[in-house]
Amino acid sequence: MCGIVGYLGERPVMPVLIKGLQRLEYRGYDSSGIAIVGGPTSSTEARANALQLFKRKGKVQDLIDHIGGAKPEGKVGIGHTRWATHGAPNDLNAHPHRSGNGRLALIHNGIIENYHAIKESLIQRGHTFESDTDTEVLVHLIEEILAGGDCDLFKAVRLALSEVDGAYAIAVVDATSPGEVVVARKSSPLVLGIGDGEYFIASDATPIVEYTKNVVYLEDEEVARISLEDGLKILTINNNTVTPVIEALEVEIEAIEKGGYEHFMLKEIHEQPRSIADCLRGRVRLDHGKITMAGIDDHTEMWTQAQRVIIVGCGTSWHAGLVAEYLFEDFARIPVEVEYASEFRYRNPVINKGDIVIAISQSGETADTLAAIRMAKERGAHIFGVCNVVGSSISREADSGAYTHAGPEIGVASTKAFTAQVTVLALLALRVGWLRGEVDSAMLARMMVELQAIPDKIEVLLSQEEKVREIAKAYCQAPNALFLGRGYNFPVALEGALKLKEISYIHAEGYPAAEIKHGPIALIDEDMPIFFVATQDAHYEKVVSNMQEVKARGGRIIAVVTRGDTQAAALANHVIEVPKTADALVPLLSTVPFQLLSYHIAVMLERNVDQPRNLAKSVTVE
Ligand code: GLU
Repeated sequence: MCGIVGYLGERPVMPVLIKGLQRLEYRGYDSSGIAIVGGPTSSTEARANALQLFKRKGKVQDLIDHIGGAKPEGKVGIGHTRWATHGAPNDLNAHPHRSGNGRLALIHNGIIENYHAIKESLIQRGHTFESDTDTEVLVHLIEEILAGGDCDLFKAVRLALSEVDGAYAIAVVDATSPGEVVVARKSSPLVLGIGDGEYFIASDATPIVEYTKNVVYLEDEEVARISLEDGLKILTINNNTVTPVIEALEVEIEAIEKGGYEHFMLKEIHEQPRSIADCLRGRVRLDHGKITMAGIDDHTEMWTQAQRVIIVGCGTSWHAGLVAEYLFEDFARIPVEVEYASEFRYRNPVINKGDIVIAISQSGETADTLAAIRMAKERGAHIFGVCNVVGSSISREADSGAYTHAGPEIGVASTKAFTAQVTVLALLALRVGWLRGEVDSAMLARMMVELQAIPDKIEVLLSQEEKVREIAKAYCQAPNALFLGRGYNFPVALEGALKLKEISYIHAEGYPAAEIKHGPIALIDEDMPIFFVATQDAHYEKVVSNMQEVKARGGRIIAVVTRGDTQAAALANHVIEVPKTADALVPLLSTVPFQLLSYHIAVMLERNVDQPRNLAKSVTVE
């Protein structure tokens, strides 16, 4: 999720904020805004009107154009780049958000999970809202607590946050107290730069490095008051004092433009523990023994009576759809068809009453998928969208849906968006299975626990990167490669081959492992690397037999196996271990080594990893 900057000090504030926002542009976003307080006014009342706020949909340049000749002045300011999670990317939903009395301005990265309940009760108490965001409830809540008297901004923020579930990094300014900013974080990073009589605030160190190397990293549930007069004070939400620890930044600007990674793709691969956790957040309710998904819960009858699910997508999204076919058959017992959107739209498909079309697209703008849902809608199907970009065309045209909340994906080759799609589709299949009486409480509880464990397991997998790099080195000169898997791992094989070909330009094919006997086995010789997914699931023994067939013909085998495996591992020249999980969730793990492998091969071949030739991130032409 997106970017935060803030500044207190003697420099002209606006240029610091704008430059900071530009430094954060690499994170991808859809709108931006700034608020500056403490302009040259005298009375408190005048200052209350002196919240100088500018925000705009689009790029930072659009914000600069919008500010135009205005010269907001003051010693304190905050700025934000938004990547919408709640409410379309438009001017009103852009941050900062203002309190009802116009005194406070707040910026937020993350998601307030219980915003709906908070908003309802605030409305009952007379608050009105300007935006559709989850964020706006926070600033109203703080305003209300402040209005109760006997409390300063620092305390009001702590009290407000104690009512909030979710993830946040926030910064709040008060026009009537123009020398301070209050910030806080939980599950969303925030770093404070300590200069000489000046302070910087940012969601990562990128905007700070050029000014100071002294930083304080805020920890979860810490709230800090930064004041030009009184300096820095940190308390936890529960009022425990925290002594700030100043650390020295060792990175240079160049190194952190991409958060320290050489490429966006690598950064996005490493973000998967977090993006999957974001995707599960608020949906997996272990305490209630329940999965909640608004897009389904609003249409329970339709889902319980659904006769068929048709999934449409392109490229990697189509592969996520293939995983969903297994998921829906296993958990929801609904017949599923998975279609390339580009074929589906030009066929004359039979669509019956009771059919639900699930459209999967990272950008939500994929032209073929958009055309496919329009056609299906005309023929009477209900459209359920699975998109990453909030407010995108598919998400708007769908009848219902679920966002993947993976955060902006900039690398053209999809990585974290794929695993987030599979996560949402698993939640969907489980929720629908439960509604249809196909999934019982014990199964649901077990799957929820397994889902919650996925982020940590990916972390374990990522720690083997060096090993994957060595394998990449051994095979980066291969002209061809085969990827084989069965069951849930068949789509993983397809996705592995796609990843390799799109960024390394090595010709690669994915096949169901048993199919090789019907053709591709003819390709196998000692120069052909064969990537097997041989995790210990329902198809394990069968895959091991397929490995024997390849080995007998001299093929070089690289196997992704379950940790501790010996049987499949014995047949392989190289082995990558993945932690054990439920069969249905294996794709979330077994995909990751192939992402890393393709990445490192492409780097070794000096390819343009983030922008491979001939490809575009969002395919808005058919
Ligand atoms: N949830 C907030 C919104 O949709 C913040 C999103 C972000 O992190 O940029 O406005």
